[in-house]
Amino acid sequence: MKRAVYPGSFDPLTYGHLDIIRRAAGIFDELTVAVLNNNAKSPLFSVEERVKMIEEMTKDIANVEVDSFSGLLVDYAASHDIHVSVRGLRAVTDFEYELQVAQTNRLLSRGELDTFFLTTSLEYAYLSSSVVKEIAEFHGNLDRCVPEYVEQRLYEKVLVSKRVVRSDQQ
Ligand code: ADP
Repeated sequence: MKRAVYPGSFDPLTYGHLDIIRRAAGIFDELTVAVLNNNAKSPLFSVEERVKMIEEMTKDIANVEVDSFSGLLVDYAASHDIHVSVRGLRAVTDFEYELQVAQTNRLLSRGELDTFFLTTSLEYAYLSSSVVKEIAEFHGNLDRCVPEYVEQRLYEKVLVSKRVVRSDQQ
């Protein structure tokens, strides 16, 4: 049984991530999408909200499960007997960082964790979670960036945070 983990922040999930999930689920027998609990990044969505969002958007893919983890990916993978990490490559700019992470993971896991790269589908090459958050902030059109469910969660968040800021200023 070929199992893989797709780790990331997914803050929030975009069509780019979903594309990688669908394609990786077609290659591996089981795919775990693992949301990284990294408070240093001060995410917009809590880990629980991100897990829920991904579960909702992948419920039609039978061999995908969603989980979260803190700490090192190599430790998470070892404790779940997973030996492949899936990552998406959008542009050359992603490559240097991803290469470093992949090599570090091989070193830390003593060769037990390999990285499998999927290049992004061209229509999603421009997409990142940070761009999506910026568009939401200015009430732009997110139709081609995220599923409607994610768009709604984004606008709820953005409106709530604006209300909090406004009441802080009163
Ligand atoms: P991280 O914070 O670990 O970079 P992200 O949620 O931003 O997490 O991304 C997780 C993975 O998904 C990374 O491998 C990233 O390159 C990939 N990814 C992000 N956006 C896209 C996209 N538009 N197309 C393909 N892969 C993507």
